[in-house]
Amino acid sequence: MSDSTVRIGLVLPDVMGTYGDGGNALVLRQRLRMRGHDAEIVNISLAEPVPNSLDLYTLGGAEDSAQRLATRHLQRYPGLQEAAERGAPVLAICAAIQVLGHWYETSSGERVDGVGLFDVTTSPQDKRAIGEVSTIPLIPGLSQPLTGFENHRGGTKLGGDATALARVTRGVGNGVGDQLEGVVQGSVFGTYMHGPALARNPEFADYLLARALGVDSLPPLDLPEVTQLRRERLRA
Ligand code: GLN
Repeated sequence: MSDSTVRIGLVLPDVMGTYGDGGNALVLRQRLRMRGHDAEIVNISLAEPVPNSLDLYTLGGAEDSAQRLATRHLQRYPGLQEAAERGAPVLAICAAIQVLGHWYETSSGERVDGVGLFDVTTSPQDKRAIGEVSTIPLIPGLSQPLTGFENHRGGTKLGGDATALARVTRGVGNGVGDQLEGVVQGSVFGTYMHGPALARNPEFADYLLARALGVDSLPPLDLPEVTQLRRERLRA
């Protein structure tokens, strides 16, 4: 590893990583390597503190009990919060949105204090949201529809300091009736989309990488199979 190696933190894959969410870190690493950067994934398990020095971070979804373990760990070792404070990009999938909020209520009605990186709160919806979700991004720098697979009971309400990632055209998204999907606050991005999200949405992957590298944009990659995957997903 050299000083210029881009280090991608895969946070708590032992408890947060349903539906292949760990693949987001693989996509980020591969898109860096294809452009000639050295890049590595740093797995951060429940057995160790969360380092604050990495270039970007990803967290996956989880079921309620695993989610609670992760919440406790992130509160005890605030490396992720420190990294976000200095502007390192963070991608939080599904349960990770809930964990990074002020609090969330589990399906059994227990309220758990979150990490407080997102000005959001999460309570169970009447019905679990399961299925394909398609959206139009709402943030400058993203223009392509974002798609994924959602499976969550929690519905997430945005407070004044958080904005949505996207507007829902198919599916449920944040699930509180405002047709919004995901969360953006500073350099921290959340989405309910599994998939893994970045394999299905390469523009979003490059957006996070550009932020991590401190550049406006990255040279495009010509990857016919990725384009084909996107076309198939959008058609579906
Ligand atoms: N346990 C959470 C919920 O149901 C998150 C589930 C997930 O990450 N897939 O809302």
